[in-house]
Amino acid sequence: MTLQQTPANAPEVNWAGNHHYRATVIHHPESEAEVQALVRGASSVQALGSRHSFNAIADTDGIQICLDKMLIAVRIDPEAMTATVGGGSSYGALAVELAAHGFGLANLASLPHISVAGAIATATHGSGDDNANLAADVVALRLVDGTGEVRSVSRATTPDFAGYVVGLGALGIVTEVTLSIVPAYTVAQHIYLGLDWDAVLANYDAVTGRAYSVSLFTDWSGESVGQAWFKQKIGDGRTSDYPAELLGGTAATDGVHPLPGVSAVNCTQQLGLAGPWQDRLSHFRMEFMPSAGEEIQTEYLIDRAHAVPAIQALRALSDVITPLLQVGEIRSVAADDLWLSTAQGRDSVAFHFTWFRDQAAVEAVVKVVEEALAPFGARPHWGKVFDADASALAPLYPRFDDFKALVHRLDPEGKFRNEFLQRAVFGE
Ligand SMILES: Cc1cc2nc3c(=O)[nH]c(=O)nc-3n(C[C@H](O)[C@H](O)[C@H](O)COP(=O)(O)OP(=O)(O)OC[C@H]3O[C@@H](n4cnc5c(N)ncnc54)[C@H](O)[C@@H]3O)c2cc1C
Repeated sequence: MTLQQTPANAPEVNWAGNHHYRATVIHHPESEAEVQALVRGASSVQALGSRHSFNAIADTDGIQICLDKMLIAVRIDPEAMTATVGGGSSYGALAVELAAHGFGLANLASLPHISVAGAIATATHGSGDDNANLAADVVALRLVDGTGEVRSVSRATTPDFAGYVVGLGALGIVTEVTLSIVPAYTVAQHIYLGLDWDAVLANYDAVTGRAYSVSLFTDWSGESVGQAWFKQKIGDGRTSDYPAELLGGTAATDGVHPLPGVSAVNCTQQLGLAGPWQDRLSHFRMEFMPSAGEEIQTEYLIDRAHAVPAIQALRALSDVITPLLQVGEIRSVAADDLWLSTAQGRDSVAFHFTWFRDQAAVEAVVKVVEEALAPFGARPHWGKVFDADASALAPLYPRFDDFKALVHRLDPEGKFRNEFLQRAVFGE
């Protein structure tokens, strides 16, 4: 068996470059049997996806296992309306395959480059009042646990399945994921600029419910929301009325990027031109790198019932937030039942922050944001920078202790434990 290793000159940093992995080596196995052998032979191991997380969640003092070379053809089951894909596959590659066969996914995150297993492990989400996060579409998983055994679990047959999906890399190496799929559909993207904050807040539910997926982009300063992106699913019964002016804002007449002044060339098609779901739901196109440059992200999810007071609390902090911020985004995520999902048990609003890449300054401002959002029971995105530790996070998740028990069962020797999990989950 040949185990591929990362060439010596490969960048052993995350996508944003704000975390250098401590792992001694990155393996790229080509089969599940190789994954089993690697896990059995390691004392410390962690799965590595497409490296898009902004913290140490994918790190380890031992070996990392990346499934980017474990090519598994997408298996579509049109009867069950599911698709099975390798854990290392990107959402973008899956989307192309599904679309070619007339199928779709209910939603996508803002960029399609992320790996499926990595995205579901951290409860990655897109937007939409009725759209749950990407992990909520998972109906079955195959994973190599901490003993090297392969486990097949499914929503239909595994009683504690809801504990497995948002797994934070703590339960094993996910080799295959089976997702619910839908018939392919068409989306048009309408963008408005400079909407009046007061009008948006007075009509908050109408604004976020106006389209299948809605994102509000803001720098939290001033009296207007920078941009509102409405992703209209054609024929879903919601309005098709996109007038020249809306809530004090004006319809964009040219392509726009969420970051003011940045070319829209990397963004998916806008200006209300209808097209396939996979070319509209993400903000950024698969064939381009999505960012304007170096950045760090944080994000917090709260019960959407508190959206308006929480937005007011963040606007009141603009003196602290805005100077370090490239752009902020407000999205909706529907409730799910996954134990460690940031939207577990509550329809949520997500407050996302794309900061300039100044780690120390971000860590300082994140504490201020967390304090402001603490009264709303804010759950931080698992894959982004946050300050809270296990003692602060445990009360926010009713099944937190059940998750820890599941980790002990699947990984009795603690091979997947890393510093991140010690701090954020085990608190030891
Ligand atoms: C530009 C950009 C835009 C983003 N947009 C969004 C967005 O719209 N919405 C959102 O919610 N998040 C967003 N994110 C965050 C991102 O989706 C998450 O950080 C996600 O976890 C990244 O997936 P990854 O494959 O890069 O995982 P990695 O960062 O490589 O790993 C994350 C976790 O997944 C685990 N993991 C990876 N592969 C496996 C596997 N095969 N088996 C078991 N565990 C595994 C790792 O061990 C680790 O615990 C964005 C990030 C960037 C950089």
